[in-house]
Amino acid sequence: MLEKVVIANRGEIALRILRACKELGIKTVAIHSKADRDLMHVRLADEAVCIGPAPSPQSYLNIPAIIAAAEVTDAMGIHPGYGFLAENADFAEQVERSGFQFIGPKAETIRLMGDKVSAIEAMKKAGVPTVPGSDGPLPVDDGEAMKKIALRIGYPVIIKAAAGGGGRGMRVVHSEASLLNSVHVTRSEAAAAFGDDTVYMEKFLENPRHVEVQVLADGQGNAIHLYDRDCSMQRRHQKVVEEAPAPHLDPEARAKVLQSCVEACIEIGYRGAGTFEFLYEDGGFYFIEMNTRVQVEHPVTEMITGIDIVKEQLRIASGLPLSIKQDDVVVQGHAFECRINAEDPKSFLPSPGTVKHFHAPGGLGMRVDSHLYSGYTVPPHYDSLIAKLISFAEDRETALIRMRNALDETLIDGIRTNIPLHQDIVRDTHFQKGGVNIHYLEKKLGL
Ligand code: ADP
Repeated sequence: MLEKVVIANRGEIALRILRACKELGIKTVAIHSKADRDLMHVRLADEAVCIGPAPSPQSYLNIPAIIAAAEVTDAMGIHPGYGFLAENADFAEQVERSGFQFIGPKAETIRLMGDKVSAIEAMKKAGVPTVPGSDGPLPVDDGEAMKKIALRIGYPVIIKAAAGGGGRGMRVVHSEASLLNSVHVTRSEAAAAFGDDTVYMEKFLENPRHVEVQVLADGQGNAIHLYDRDCSMQRRHQKVVEEAPAPHLDPEARAKVLQSCVEACIEIGYRGAGTFEFLYEDGGFYFIEMNTRVQVEHPVTEMITGIDIVKEQLRIASGLPLSIKQDDVVVQGHAFECRINAEDPKSFLPSPGTVKHFHAPGGLGMRVDSHLYSGYTVPPHYDSLIAKLISFAEDRETALIRMRNALDETLIDGIRTNIPLHQDIVRDTHFQKGGVNIHYLEKKLGL
């Protein structure tokens, strides 16, 4: 087992990783920026190293500083969490070249999945269902060829940057008249934003849900899935509420897609925790991308399977084979997660500042993953996620009632939060039925 691990992240996920390390008897090193001295996990870690000033390029994205922190503390592994450097193949490579274990997949896997064109190609080869599309990059300067591809796929189509991420570098095209111009504009934007102007084309699905599959693989030939999550409640491609399992799926299509994800993991030699993201429409699954890291919404899967995903990541990185077999994974009950952000519930503008009083909800089936405490100051420099409320019950309806109660109980005084938005969502009759599509929340908000 790894003896000491650097937690290369902040906030709730840093605390989450620290908890898993402690359970496994692994010593922890918290690295933090100057703005983050007061973070909860920094207080609790065995060692803490300040790696730079507040702006993330100089701290949480500063690769040499993070590796130096691992060197001076004699750590064995580095856990990147999510965001920041978690899906940076160069970071993974440098970590391993410096003699440390990167707690995640091999650099080459991150690279393969980071380029959406190569990711889709690898998935098709492994038998994972994908969106009908151009099957590779669009040809440069061949308008006729592009028009043919679009006609074959059928309008509307979506032009996407191969290197895209965070919901950027995408454009929907409804008819041939605007096709070439849209390709041109997306190409220029992709070149400016990602330094790579490769674009591809996909069928634009009009009313899909976002359904994803959690996997674990040990890189030694063993892989399992931990079933699915629904993350359709989104605003600007950002997830707001998630649940597991995904409700009302076609059972046959579901069984097939879960199996195909496991096979894909074995085919690409996947190592660690990962998520296959799909659009789900009319009973069909369409792969859009793979996240090669732990996700914000991993707790809902932990609640319904009883498997600690972060502990599994640490075991796999220690070279141990998977301790669980597929048959051991049993889904029980239903879980929801509400992402609580420090932001105005109406304008969505960030609302950093000092939390005067914090009261977390509790009771049977309630889990709170948060680094907040009374007196803590939310800095303005980073993501606004401050807490995740996770409710669990034997059925979906009860889990949702528990979430409603929890939201009403939570007290975060001194800053604004999106709790009112969540209180509205959990009382929404369509959401209560389950299965709304990815446009539902924005329509509801009148955006
Ligand atoms: P990113 O890496 O930027 O998150 P994704 O490929 O995951 O990009 O797509 C982000 C979101 O864009 C999806 O969740 C979905 O809302 C929308 N989207 C992407 N591809 C399609 C498609 N073919 N049809 C409809 N919507 C799409």
